[in-house]
Amino acid sequence: MNLSQLANPRILDQPVYEPGKPIEEVAREHGLQPDQICKLASNENPWGASEQAKDAARQAIDKVHLYPDGSAHPLIKRLAAHHHLNQDQFVLGNGSNEIIELLGHVFLEPGDEVVCGQFAFVVYKLVALLMGAKPVEVEMPLLGHDLQLMRQAITERTKLVFLPSPNNPTGTANTAEEICAFVRSLPEHVIFCFDEAYAEYLDNPPDMRPLIAEGRKIICLRTFSKIHGLAALRIGYGYGSPEMIHLLQQARQPFNVNAVAQAAAIGALTDNAWVSECRKRNRDGLQQLVNGLERLGVEYIPSHANFILTKPGDGRSLFFALQKEGIITRALGPSLADYLRISVGTEEENIRLLAALEQSLAVHRV
Ligand SMILES: *Cc1c(COP(=O)(O)O)cnc(C)c1O
Repeated sequence: MNLSQLANPRILDQPVYEPGKPIEEVAREHGLQPDQICKLASNENPWGASEQAKDAARQAIDKVHLYPDGSAHPLIKRLAAHHHLNQDQFVLGNGSNEIIELLGHVFLEPGDEVVCGQFAFVVYKLVALLMGAKPVEVEMPLLGHDLQLMRQAITERTKLVFLPSPNNPTGTANTAEEICAFVRSLPEHVIFCFDEAYAEYLDNPPDMRPLIAEGRKIICLRTFSKIHGLAALRIGYGYGSPEMIHLLQQARQPFNVNAVAQAAAIGALTDNAWVSECRKRNRDGLQQLVNGLERLGVEYIPSHANFILTKPGDGRSLFFALQKEGIITRALGPSLADYLRISVGTEEENIRLLAALEQSLAVHRV
């Protein structure tokens, strides 16, 4: 009897998340220096974290021999003030990805259905499969979430429905009005997970708090990995009703969020000016990419986030061609084979990307 025969059979078929390629790996493979490489593959903040966040992280290093505060009291207090909610309405995760997994642990049983868009963030489907639930992938005809189709996909077996807005990888967003109407239309046995990983890039992000207060079954997810620039520290959070949060707290590990991450997150929340500055720089960077793509005649999906989904044809070849030039982008699965996702970089990085793209397209079009 081998080990695999002893494994939970679901694990043997479990698809594995393919992350953006790390800089060091591309450097090794192509004989490049790491500092020559620009990574536009994982929607990180190209301007980095706030100085206040980094200072707080450095100070926390002196105490790394101590376990973190498992209740993360100072951070949760800060989050409650930030969102004008109560402290018992927050749960922290090792990245908001962990909270997606906690949702699976708390709510999913084999046979349950999980509704999500066919081009939605892929982790929803992975967690559904891991728990033995059935992912129901709803068509996204124009690459955005069609909430009418999503509503039609809901059955008595639906337990969870995921909506990321803006969505990754398409960069599309739904309006607050349509999202609220959708949530109000959901039957009692369905939990709505609103993934707000890119909410800070919107001028007026939809506000789920009134619906939470009304008693709707909602969990909202936020992350420090994107506009806050703390992707390496792995920290995100969820907010919802105290009852929702209590259930998620029951399922988490006691020290799931490390002390350096907690400290940095408090620093990040203190520095609103940095968030506004990055939002503005991102808007300019997105415009710079759009101008360049139009000049090159490359189609794209208008984006509400810090990346853009482009349609240059044969994403995988372009991904490899750009990688040789030291630029890491993201090719997508077979259903988006003609697309390439590009994160907004610094002004210089965007110039480099556009030049390399122009060159690679010339080669590929011959
Ligand atoms: C990046 C991203 C996240 C955040 O992941 P973390 O685990 O917090 O780093 C969540 N949802 C979507 C849609 C994302 O693109």
